[in-house]
Amino acid sequence: MKKILVIYTGGTIGMVNTPSGYAPEKDAFHNLLDRIPELHAEAMPHWDIVDMEPLLDSSNITVVEWNAIGQLIADHYDNYDGFVVLHGTDTMAYTASALSFMLRGNGKPVILTGSQIPLCEIRNDARDNIITSLLIAASGQVHEVCLYFGGKLLRGNRAIKYSADDLIAFESPNYPALAEAGIAIRYNTPALLPPNRGRFAFQRLKNVPIGVIKVFPGIQFDLFDSIMTERLKGIVIETFGAGNIPGHADSLLPIIRKASDNGTVIIVCSQCPHGTVSLGAYEASSALKEAGAVSGYDITTEAAVAKLYYLFSRGLSRDEIRVRMERSMRGEITV
Ligand code: ASP
Repeated sequence: MKKILVIYTGGTIGMVNTPSGYAPEKDAFHNLLDRIPELHAEAMPHWDIVDMEPLLDSSNITVVEWNAIGQLIADHYDNYDGFVVLHGTDTMAYTASALSFMLRGNGKPVILTGSQIPLCEIRNDARDNIITSLLIAASGQVHEVCLYFGGKLLRGNRAIKYSADDLIAFESPNYPALAEAGIAIRYNTPALLPPNRGRFAFQRLKNVPIGVIKVFPGIQFDLFDSIMTERLKGIVIETFGAGNIPGHADSLLPIIRKASDNGTVIIVCSQCPHGTVSLGAYEASSALKEAGAVSGYDITTEAAVAKLYYLFSRGLSRDEIRVRMERSMRGEITV
């Protein structure tokens, strides 16, 4: 029988109503799980659960919690066939992206899930998300970090939170779903990563100073001049369309050049969830390239942020990081 470790980090899935709104409560959640007979049915894998301390609303998740989740997986890697991480939806795509990089040589399913409505409510999406994630983790089909939500299994570092209130809350705009759970769970085998034969190693992350700037019409780039110091290791610029920035506001380029001279790695992403950055396709993006920025292609901002943390935490040189940002490491970009 397959053995799955469930790691409960917090999030709406296990929250209960308190005088100040929904908040996670360990014992209440465990009691609710005990009352779902399907979780203990014969067709289910054997599962154990560990709780993170403290349980968090995922808007409070930082590199510290990513390290704690990753460490739990690393400590139990040889004893379990797969992992299900119960997590708040707000930053689930960031955590999924981070784990995909941190768990080097991972060949086991790591399925992040949560819910929009807590398990304590009569009408909820928590029950199905937990049961189906456990079944997927035990299926033997998946060998990567994924996010299961609302009937779809997505590659973790391709997912974005797309809706604040729909039960289908996540999308993977630039990569097909890895599986769809309808009457049966149908796996999209060609889209899945092959079983990894490398040696498993866990990379802890450092709290590297990085930033994200979203370009908008009329943006006054000089306001950002003061953050472009040598302290800033990496910056993700969310540009228009295929990597375009306003050309008339020539104050951006000196700032990008300053960042580049300071050794900051500059990654260009698109504000469009679907499609890819193509630096140099328009005059409006050529200048970015000349100023030293590299293309994130169709990477999500979530994955770009996580990848920067990871590459800097590995102690790579700035030039190596620039090269790797433009390459797919865990299926996070289409080059
Ligand atoms: N704020 C909650 C969280 O991310 C939302 C959720 O879980 O859906 O923890």
